[in-house]
Amino acid sequence: MSMGFLRRLFGISSGLSFFAWQVEMTTRCPLQCRMCIREAQRGWRPADMPIDKFRKLAPYFGLVENTVLQGWGEPLMHPHLIDAIRIVKDNGSRPGFVTSGWGLDTSMVAELAGNGLDFIGFSLAGATPKTHDAIRRNSHLPAVLDAICEFNRFKADNRRETPRMHIVFLMLKDNIAEIPMLLDLARRVGIDVVMLINLIQVSDAWQDDQKVFSCGRGEAWAVIEEARIKAKELDIALQISSLNPEVTAVCGDDPLRNLFIAIDGQVSPCVYLHPPVPSPVKRIFCGEPVSVEKLSFGNIFDEPLEQIWTGQDYVAFRSQFQKRRDFVASHPYDSIASPEIERLMPGGGVALPEPPAPCLTCHRRLGL
Ligand code: SF4
Repeated sequence: MSMGFLRRLFGISSGLSFFAWQVEMTTRCPLQCRMCIREAQRGWRPADMPIDKFRKLAPYFGLVENTVLQGWGEPLMHPHLIDAIRIVKDNGSRPGFVTSGWGLDTSMVAELAGNGLDFIGFSLAGATPKTHDAIRRNSHLPAVLDAICEFNRFKADNRRETPRMHIVFLMLKDNIAEIPMLLDLARRVGIDVVMLINLIQVSDAWQDDQKVFSCGRGEAWAVIEEARIKAKELDIALQISSLNPEVTAVCGDDPLRNLFIAIDGQVSPCVYLHPPVPSPVKRIFCGEPVSVEKLSFGNIFDEPLEQIWTGQDYVAFRSQFQKRRDFVASHPYDSIASPEIERLMPGGGVALPEPPAPCLTCHRRLGL
C-alpha cells in the first residue's frame, strides 16, 4: 500500500485524513455495568486483538489524527496495551482510550504516560460510591479517583502535559441528580473536561427506563441548567449530549471521518454496528424493540484499507450522510425537517434525505 495513494484518495496533499479510528483491543471486561449491551445479549465473545495483527495497522496510523484503543471491552485488560500505544505513537497518531480505571496503579500509570499516551477518559456513573458502584458493578469510585490523582502526580513530577484527561459520565435517571456534585469532584481531582453522554445502545427494559433522553418533546431536566452554571463557575468545559432529537446531518460518530476496527479486523462505521455478539443485534429504539444486522465493509487484516474504504457499499453508505451534510449546508436550519424527527414530532419543513438503512434505528442519528 502506498501512503501517497491514500493521500490522493482522501483528497489532500498533506496532513492527516481521518479524525479518529477506534480500534478494539479487547472485548474482555471485569465490570458488569448495568447499562452494558452484555446485560441483554447472549453469545458475547470475549477475546483480545493479537498484537501481531495490530502491528499490521501501523502503516495507516500516519493518516489518523487520533487512535482510540477501545471498543466494547476494557483496554487495560489487553496484555500488550503498552506496545499498542507505542506503535500508534511512533507512527504519527495520538493514542488514547476511555477506561473504568481497572487495576490502574502507580506503575501502570507511569508505563502508560511514559510511553506516549495522549488522552485518557474515565467512565463514571455517579458522584458518590453508592451510586457509581451500583451502576458500574465491580468498579469502586474512590479507586477511579485515586487513579486520576496518580496521573496528575506523574504529570506534575515529570512536567508533562499529557495524557490529557477527561471524565465521561453516562446520564441515567439514577445518577443525573449527582451531576453538580460530579463537577465539584472533577475540580477536586484536577479534571477540567467533563462529557455527559446518553445511553445509545438500549438493550433491555431497565436501560430503556433509565435513559434520560426523550425521542419526542421530553421533559427538561433542571439539573442540566444548574450544571451549566456550575461548570462555568468552576471553569470546567462541560459537553452535554442533547436530551431531545435534533436535526442532525451526520451523527456524532461521523463515519465520514472516522471508522471502527473490531478485534477480528472487521471495519465498520461505528461500535454500534459491530458489537461482539451474534447478528442480529437487539436493541430498543425510541421504546420499540428492533434488530439490526451487524455491518462490516471488509477485514483490514486481509485487505488493504483503500480497497475497503472505496468498496461500493461503503461509498454508498457514506454518500447518504454526505448528501445530508450538503443538504443542511444549503438550507436554512429552521426550514429543515428530518424525516426521522418528523415521525416523532410532526412540524413541517423541507425533508432531509434519509440516513443509511443500518442507522435508521440508532439514537445517535437523532443527535442524542
Ligand atoms: S447513526 Fe448510529 S449506527 Fe449510524 S454511523 Fe452513526 S452511530 Fe453508527
